[in-house]
Amino acid sequence: MMKKIIVLGGGTAGWLTSLLTREFYPEFDITLIESEEIGILGAGEDTVPHFIEVLDFLRIPVSALVRECSATIKIGIKFSNWNGDGTSYFHDFRAKDELEEWAFDDAFRYNMLSSYLIGEDVHLDTVNFYSRLADQWKVPFVLNDHTLSNYRDAIMAIQHLGNFALHFDARLLAKFFSQVAQSTRRIRRVEGKLSEATTDAKGNITGIRLENGKYVECDFIFDCSGFARLLLGKHFKQRWIDYKQYLPLDTALPFFIPHDGRNFPPYTEAIALKYGWMWKIPVHNRYGCGYVFDSSYINEEQAKAEVEELLGHEITSPLGLRLPLAAKRH
Ligand SMILES: Cc1cc2nc3c(=O)[nH]c(=O)nc-3n(C[C@H](O)[C@H](O)[C@H](O)COP(=O)(O)OP(=O)(O)OC[C@H]3O[C@@H](n4cnc5c(N)ncnc54)[C@H](O)[C@@H]3O)c2cc1C
Repeated sequence: MMKKIIVLGGGTAGWLTSLLTREFYPEFDITLIESEEIGILGAGEDTVPHFIEVLDFLRIPVSALVRECSATIKIGIKFSNWNGDGTSYFHDFRAKDELEEWAFDDAFRYNMLSSYLIGEDVHLDTVNFYSRLADQWKVPFVLNDHTLSNYRDAIMAIQHLGNFALHFDARLLAKFFSQVAQSTRRIRRVEGKLSEATTDAKGNITGIRLENGKYVECDFIFDCSGFARLLLGKHFKQRWIDYKQYLPLDTALPFFIPHDGRNFPPYTEAIALKYGWMWKIPVHNRYGCGYVFDSSYINEEQAKAEVEELLGHEITSPLGLRLPLAAKRH
């Protein structure tokens, strides 16, 4: 019977893993190990609607996360310039049944009408209810006695109408999950850098020794150490399979753009550029952005220059992330 679980790493993956493990194994002893000095990646501010389902499963109110993690509502993704002519397409997260009853254009969009309209050269955004809302930087929301009495959490009234997701500050998210995990889920956090993984005669990991001398035993361990790949890569020496041949974009140049904190779109924008694409994600007080490009064509300085030309202003380094930052796959 497994009793002691270690989660190695305290980024998004580590804290989510520990919270999910707690839901499945209420009686287990769960310890998360992380190093404050190494820190977390801090990128990854964009989700899809399944994230809301995960929060529901974890019994974490969406409104608490929105408050603590500078989060904003996302109803879809705007793909800009992917035809190279400045036009865009809005991919929404699909209305729910209630919405489809009255927004009939949306109900038809996914079947016969789409193919017909494409054949007739009609842009799908013109017949998409969500796209029209997104254009006005609005989200669907019905506030009446019915919705409010049905939802303890007011933000869930949006879910009543359609699927939605969240954008958030990834560093605040790790802090928020860490606080929920330690204060309400009996998950222990141990600080320190890995020195070695101890094993039994069969090679199974029995514990983690840290550079500060601490030792934590385990029956099972999750490797959530991110790009460091401490156990899968370094300990077990799993081969790294490079997909560069099929997925050529290998470098990310992240940066922030400020906004006024009041007016921002309810979507992520994915903008096609010359050698890759740029994400633009609104959180409460800024856009988190980044240019993902193919480093066999341009270097980071050229990538920066291309983005600055597009935006018409200089870009600056975000909190704790060096600019240029090469978050390479290998
Ligand atoms: C540029 C970029 C943009 C992305 N955007 C998105 C996005 O929009 N949406 C999305 O879902 N995903 C996104 N991702 C993917 C996602 O952000 C990452 O997969 C995720 O944030 C990584 O989290 P993590 O917990 O796996 O790793 P990390 O955040 O790197 O955490 C690793 C943890 O391991 C610990 N650790 C490392 N070495 C040691 C050691 N020697 N001893 C002890 N502890 C150690 C660190 O302290 C840290 O706590 C993006 C990734 C990149 C690179």
